[in-house]
Amino acid sequence: MKNENVLLLDGSKVAGEIKDQLQVRVNQLKENGITPCLATILVGDDPSSATYVKMKGNACKRIGMISKRIDLPKETTTQELLDVIVELNNDSSVHGILLQHPVPEQIDERAAFEAISIEKDVDGVTSLGFGQTALGFGEYPSCTPAAILEIIDYYKLPIEGKHAVVIGRSPILGKPVSMLLLNRNATVTTCHSRTQNLPELVKQADIIVAAVGKANFVQGDWVKEGAVILDAGYNEGNVGDVDYEACLPKASAITPVPGGVGPVTISMLLKQTVAAAEKLV
Ligand code: NAP
Repeated sequence: MKNENVLLLDGSKVAGEIKDQLQVRVNQLKENGITPCLATILVGDDPSSATYVKMKGNACKRIGMISKRIDLPKETTTQELLDVIVELNNDSSVHGILLQHPVPEQIDERAAFEAISIEKDVDGVTSLGFGQTALGFGEYPSCTPAAILEIIDYYKLPIEGKHAVVIGRSPILGKPVSMLLLNRNATVTTCHSRTQNLPELVKQADIIVAAVGKANFVQGDWVKEGAVILDAGYNEGNVGDVDYEACLPKASAITPVPGGVGPVTISMLLKQTVAAAEKLV
C-alpha cells in the first residue's frame, strides 16, 4: 500500500549536509594547526564490527580528519585494553575515542568504557556522559540517539508535548534517546522485553523510536494514523526493526533502512569529534 502524504526522512541527505558543514570546520581547524583525530579500537575479529570501524574510519578520512585505528587481538585482557585507552587519553593528537561494541566476553566492557576520559567520549559511552545527557547538559550524547534527534530537527518535526514511545532501553540507544526526548518536553514511554501490552502502548505514540534489534518487529496495526517513525534497527540483510511496508500507510514521516538513522549516526560521531578538537583552538 502507498501513502502519498508520507514524509520520507532521508538520513543520507541529512548526513551529507552535516558532512559538508563539517568539512568547513575541519578546514578551519587545519588552518590553526589542528587535524581532528578519532581513535577507533577494535578488539577481536568480528566481521560486522570490523565493517563498522572501517566505515567510521573512511568517513573521517573523506572530510580530512585523521582516523587512528587500533586493532587488538581477541585474547586481549581488560587490563591491556585499559592501558591502550589511558595512552589515548594522554595523547594530545587524539580528540575522540571510540571503543567498538561488543568486545570479547573476557573483557569488562563497562570498565573499558569508563576509562575513556569525558573530554574524548565522543560516542557517549561513559556513565558520566550518560548522566550529563540525562540531566540535559551533555555535550556528546550517544551517537545514534543524537542522530535520531538530528533527523527530527532537520525536518522540523515537533517534539514538545508529543507522546514518544521508545522500544528498547539499552545504554547506548533506548535509554539516552528517551532522555533526549524527555529533555525536549516529549512525554516518554520506554518499553523493553518485560513490557506488557506493547502494541497498545505503541498505538498511543505520536513518535515511535524502534531500537529493539529484531527485524520487522513493529507491525502496521500498532501504528496510530499520522505517527512519526524512527527506525534505529539494523538487522541482518539490511532490515530495520520496523515493518516498513506495513507501517508506511499509517505514518506521517518515516526513516527507511538503510539510508535512515545509520548514516546520520556516523555523521554525529564525526561532528562530536570535530567539536572536541575545536576546544583546543
Ligand atoms: P540491545 O542492547 O540488544 O537492546 C535491545 C532492547 O530491546 C533491550 O532493551 C530489550 O529489552 C528490548 N527488547 C528486546 N526484545 C523485546 C521485545 N520483544 N519487546 C520489547 N522490547 C524488547 O540493542 P541495541 O544495541 O540498543 O540496538 C538496537 C537496534 O539498533 C539493533 O538493531 C542495532 O543493530 C541497532 N543499532 C543501530 C545503530 C545505528 O547506527 N543505526 C547503532 C546502534 C544500534 P531488555 O532491556 O528487557 O532486554
